[in-house]
Formats: sequence, C-alpha cells, structure tokens
Amino acid sequence: MSTLRPTGSLIPVDAPFSAAQESWLAGFIAGVAAAGRRSTAPAPTTTVDVLFGTQTGNAEVLADQLVAGAVARGLGGRATALDDVSPEQLADMSHVLVVTSTYGEGEMPDNAGLFWEALQASTVPRLEGLQYAVLGLGDTSYDEFCQAGKLLDTRLEQLGATRIHDRVDCDVDFEDPAELWTAAVLDRVAAQAGATGAAAGATTGVGATTTATAAGGAGASRASRPGAQWTKRTPYRAPLVVNRLLSAPGSAKEIRHLEFDLGDSGIEYAAGDALAVVPHNDPALVDELLDHLGADGSADVDGRTLAEVLRVDREVRTPSKDLVADLVQRAPASELAAVVAHGDKQELDRWLWGRDVLDLLRDAGPAAPTLEELLPNLRGLQARQYSISSSPLAHPGRVHLTIASVRYGDAHRTHHGVASTYLADRVQADGEVGVYLQPNAAFGVPADGDAPMVMIGPGTGIAPFRGFLHERAASGARGANWLFFGDQHRATDFVYEDELTDLQERGVLDRLDVAFSRDQAEKVYVQTRMREQAAELYRWLEDGASVYVCGDASRMAKDVEQALLDVIAAGRGRGVDDALAYLADLRRAKRYVRDVY
Ligand code: NAP
Repeated sequence: MSTLRPTGSLIPVDAPFSAAQESWLAGFIAGVAAAGRRSTAPAPTTTVDVLFGTQTGNAEVLADQLVAGAVARGLGGRATALDDVSPEQLADMSHVLVVTSTYGEGEMPDNAGLFWEALQASTVPRLEGLQYAVLGLGDTSYDEFCQAGKLLDTRLEQLGATRIHDRVDCDVDFEDPAELWTAAVLDRVAAQAGATGAAAGATTGVGATTTATAAGGAGASRASRPGAQWTKRTPYRAPLVVNRLLSAPGSAKEIRHLEFDLGDSGIEYAAGDALAVVPHNDPALVDELLDHLGADGSADVDGRTLAEVLRVDREVRTPSKDLVADLVQRAPASELAAVVAHGDKQELDRWLWGRDVLDLLRDAGPAAPTLEELLPNLRGLQARQYSISSSPLAHPGRVHLTIASVRYGDAHRTHHGVASTYLADRVQADGEVGVYLQPNAAFGVPADGDAPMVMIGPGTGIAPFRGFLHERAASGARGANWLFFGDQHRATDFVYEDELTDLQERGVLDRLDVAFSRDQAEKVYVQTRMREQAAELYRWLEDGASVYVCGDASRMAKDVEQALLDVIAAGRGRGVDDALAYLADLRRAKRYVRDVY
C-alpha cells in the first residue's frame, strides 16, 4: 500500500509526477474537496450585485465587504466597477447595491463616468425588475456633497427600479453609517430571499476575515486581504525609518522621501496603492488655540487632557462648514460675514484658502465661541492618503512615500500642513506612526509585462511611477516605459534623478521627458512635452500602451487630458469626437487611469 507524503498530501510518494504536476494535482484535489464541502450548503438563489464607483479605493473596499456580508447571509455576491456594467447587463440584475464616491465638483469618479453617460441615454432599458439601494461617500466640506450617489439614486428610480432602502450619504467618517446601511440593506435582501445562510445581522462583512466567494467568481476580497485589520480606528504603528530631504537647498519646495518599516503588520501592498497616515496636530498650534480661547489644556475630557483631544482627535486647521456658518451668525460684523454676504462662492473659497480655525476665531473677535461651543463644530481629524512610491518586490517589508511639506504664511503667522509637517518635523527618529493601507486596484502596472506604459506625474505625482518602475525592474517585465515628469527647477527639484538615470541605463526606463516650468521665461509643463512628442506618443498608444496620470486634479489633470486628446486627434486626423471616443475606449479598457486629487 502506498504511503502518504509527510506534508499530508493525498498523492502517493511513489506516484510518477514531476513537482509541477504534483503541485497542480494537489490544488485540484483541494478544490474538489472544497467543492464537496460547499455542496452541503444550498446554492444561493439571490445574487447581490455590488457596483462601485471609486477614486481612492474606499468604495471598492466597502463593495468587497458588502459581498462578504451577502455571502455570510447565504446570498450570492459579486462586486463590479460601475464602468464594467452596461445598461443591458444592469437590466438583467435583480438586486443592485451601488457604493460610490464623488469626484471633484460633483462629478462621477473615474471608473463610473462611462456608466453614468450610458445610463442617461434615451435608449436605456427600463429597470422595473431591479431592486436597488445607494450608499454615497463624500465630504461635507464640498458643495456637491455625495452628488454622484444622489444622481445615480434618482436615475435608477426614474428608470423604474425599486429602492430597497433609502440612500445614505456618508461624510469622511463613513465607517459607522456605512456599516449600519450595509447591515440594514443586506438583512432586508436576505429576509426577502428567505436566505438560509448565517443568521441575518450576524455580520456586516466589515472586517470579515473569510474570503467573499462571489457568485460571479470574483477573486480574493480586498476586505479580507492580509493587513486589512489595520484601519483608521486601528492603525498599525509603523516605525518611520527614513526621513530624507529630496529637494535641494534653494528650492521653493520641501520634498521628502519617507520610509516605514511594515514589520509584522502583514500589510501586503501593490505598487500604485496608497498609504493612509493618521497624523497628530502640531502641539504649538494647539497651545495657540487654547491660549486664544483662554482654556486650560490640562482639563480632563473623558480621561484625557483637553490638549490631547485637540492634538489627536480634532481638525484644528481646516474650518468646517458648520464652524463657518456658526461664526457668521455670531459675528455679523466680521470680515468672514462680509464675504459670505456677497454670496460669491469662489470669493469665499479664495478668502478661506490658507486660513485656519484660529484665523477665523480671531476674525470673529469677542463674538467668537467659547471652547465648549467650538468643539462640536470641529470635525474629527482625518487620516491623509499618500500614493506609495515603492514596489513591494523591490523593497520588501518597507513602504516609501514622497511628500511635499506644506508650509506657507506671512509676517504674522506660518501655517503648516497637518500630516506633511507631522511626518517631516514631529515624528522622532524611529518613532512610530499610525498607518493603514488604502488599496487602489485600478491603479497598477499592466498585468501584461510586455505592455508599454506612459506615466505622467509632475511634482509629487511622480510617487507611484517610481514604484511602477521599480516593480517592472524587479519583475523583469519587458514592456517599454515612458515617464513625463516636471517641477519648478531642474537644479533643485529633479527628485530621484539618480535613480531615474540608473533605470534608464539599465534599460527599464526607455524614455524620460522633463519639463521644468520656471527654468525659462515661458512656462513649460509636462503637456508641452506631450505635444512635442505627439506622433511618438500616439504610436505608443497604438502599440497598446496604458496611460497613467498622477498629481494635481484641479488644473494639471484636466490640461494633460486635453493634451492627450490633441495627441490622439493629430495621430488619427479624424476630429475631436473621434478622439473623445478613442479616449473613452482607452478608459473602458483600463488603459487610461488617473490617481489625482
Ligand atoms: P505641483 O504644484 O503640481 O507642481 C509640479 C509642476 O507642475 C510645477 O512645475 C508646476 O509649475 C507644474 N504645473 C502647474 N500647473 C500645471 C498645469 N496646469 N499643468 C501641468 N503642470 C502644471 O507639485 P506638488 O507641489 O508636488 O503638488 C502635486 C499635486 O499633486 C498636489 O496637489 C498633490 O496633492 C497632488 N498629488 C496627488 C497625488 C494623488 O492623487 N495620489 C499624489 C501625489 C501628489 P508652476 O508651479 O511653475 O506653475
């Protein structure tokens, strides 16, 4: 009789298989065994389609959690990006849960724009057979709060779909309302379906540790991937092991290279993901605020000092909308009240830009609120997300960030960016920082190592592309790589120049075009270089290149998109509409992706 292998394998020791065959066979047997185990549970009769629209990955993580929650209730579940669903496919679905963030001034996030366009067409099928609910993610400091979710909710209703549950619009602290909404919606669907899985309400899927096996065969859930236990509430305390200035003396910028040790966190990131940093406020700013308010920082607030609460828990830099409204009411003679009275939103934004809570309290004079009155109008201190600038293949166990420290001011006051200067100045050598991973599955190197990449990342927008290039070098991918980079001055702001030169010499970086905007009388930007290289750039697109853009969303990303359209129009010679359609196709094929904010 054959003996079993010591590993517990079911394959006899003397079986005539190669190591590769044996490994395949072991996987096959495990799969058959798992299928046998699964067959004891009845197959789900209702599938919940979770459709997500995401810019920074939050909606995608929630979508995975919803799928896990559906599966835990005996339902089928499948998460899909909105742009990957056509109206016809939508019409074939029975239960749809939409989770979407909003981008910029009320726009759809990058992976939902095509879906939204298609849904507005007059030929779109009616959706009478569809039950749905929408969860919006947003930020109340924007005027068009959760606009994408609101638009989708209304449009689905117009098309005849039935709402299973009211839409919930979440502010930046989305975790609690999202968890409640998830539980309520899934319980309702499970009750309707008479699902026979785990008890309804047993889990929301949030923090679920099992893989959400989607009915549609989706892969491993990001919600359950290693390191997912580290969140905003429970960040991993990662030692900051490198804090190095990249920009040279004389630069108007202070750009830093930071490295964290991931230790035993289990965090597994991919090049292109972001790392969220849980910052602390500057104690000097907290003291100034306490001073101004005449408050005692050592006073006890639920077992902590007031100074500690302001340092760790509250946003004391950017004034909330509620605070602005409160101050206008209290101090009608203030400068702020006068600007608000004009009713010009842009003028108000300009006035508020760079002013912090203390500036506004000073402006309100004696009418300013007391500390007790102020506290409810200070929002929770938010984690800040930074694009990771390393590759796990090239830098195992470490995560790198590339951050410009925000510092500005006048003769009276200097303002400091909360997280950038926390990392630059206030974390001691080897001090620990609360971090967690913000996966961004849509923004990564092409799965096909032979596919060319075009990367456009001025300023700190270079961050993910440094990671992409290291990833491609480490994996031995042979696809051609082209980087457009720029900043103010070559002499002081050409960050990672040595590394980029080395990557060029090693044949990893095939083309590098730089645009230093202030080295000559005329401004030169990355899009100037794109236009100069239009014919070659178009050739790369035709050769299957993916185009990535990272950096400033307000102007750069729009101007770069226009340049890309011009390049396409010049290459094809078929006009603007044709270029727009070509770019839409690139987007649909996930060959035009952006990480911009
Ligand atoms: P920056 O202010 O964007 O400046 C970099 C270069 O871009 C400068 O040479 C600047 O020129 C030029 N520039 C200005 N306007 C432009 C335009 N319309 N089109 C093209 N180039 C333009 O650099 P930064 O200080 O590193 O800031 C980068 C921005 O990207 C920040 O807003 C940051 O928050 C964002 N960022 C986002 C991500 C992300 O989404 N994941 C990652 C990293 C950075 P002049 O100043 O001479 O006009």
